[in-house]
Amino acid sequence: MAKLYFRYGAMNSGKSTALLQAAYNYEERGHRVLLAKPAIDSKGDDAIVSRLGVVRRADFTVASNEDLLARFHQERARVAAEGGDVSCLLVDEAQFLTEGQVDDLLRIAIQLDIPVLAYGIRTDFQTVAFPGSRRLLEIAHSLEELKTICRCGRKAVFNARKIGDRFIFDGDQVAIDGEDVTYESLCGACYLEESGGVLNRGWRPRLDFSYRTEPDADFT
Ligand SMILES: [Zn+2]
Repeated sequence: MAKLYFRYGAMNSGKSTALLQAAYNYEERGHRVLLAKPAIDSKGDDAIVSRLGVVRRADFTVASNEDLLARFHQERARVAAEGGDVSCLLVDEAQFLTEGQVDDLLRIAIQLDIPVLAYGIRTDFQTVAFPGSRRLLEIAHSLEELKTICRCGRKAVFNARKIGDRFIFDGDQVAIDGEDVTYESLCGACYLEESGGVLNRGWRPRLDFSYRTEPDADFT
């Protein structure tokens, strides 16, 4: 049985680099992979951008209201039409998936027996899990942390938001494009020093239940 893997880390921990390396490893052995990413990430559209300079287009992007399992079947059929099959699904920026879409990743791994490698950021700039990451932490078979270093040399675990040189601790979970927003990966101690001891101001993201369109027949 194939597994769902969640490889998470703070920003700049080399997640996209690791994803592209994993894709390369499959392809080197003659296997076909599919690369996907949520459409919400407008940084590079469908490009998966490694900090080391490697760029590759995703095979498909996933809209927030899209049925990911149906879309995967479609993409797999396209590969089959070329005479191949999919050996692995790799997902970049998986924190932006909905909970229902993460559930589909588990279905792909278990029911279709295709390994799924999801890469993403664990928490937002207010130290709260993204919905997709929270679901992955709940149901992935395997969790692996990709590490990066804080300015002080300790392991960075949080992503502090900055506008110019100033740290910002209020705002939306996903920054609006056009604002001059950057992020710095910090350890817990440096984060608390910058925030004056504040973690998330009691804020939690609203759960997205939009994928639960109708109750399952089994439960009625
Ligand atoms: Zn630090």
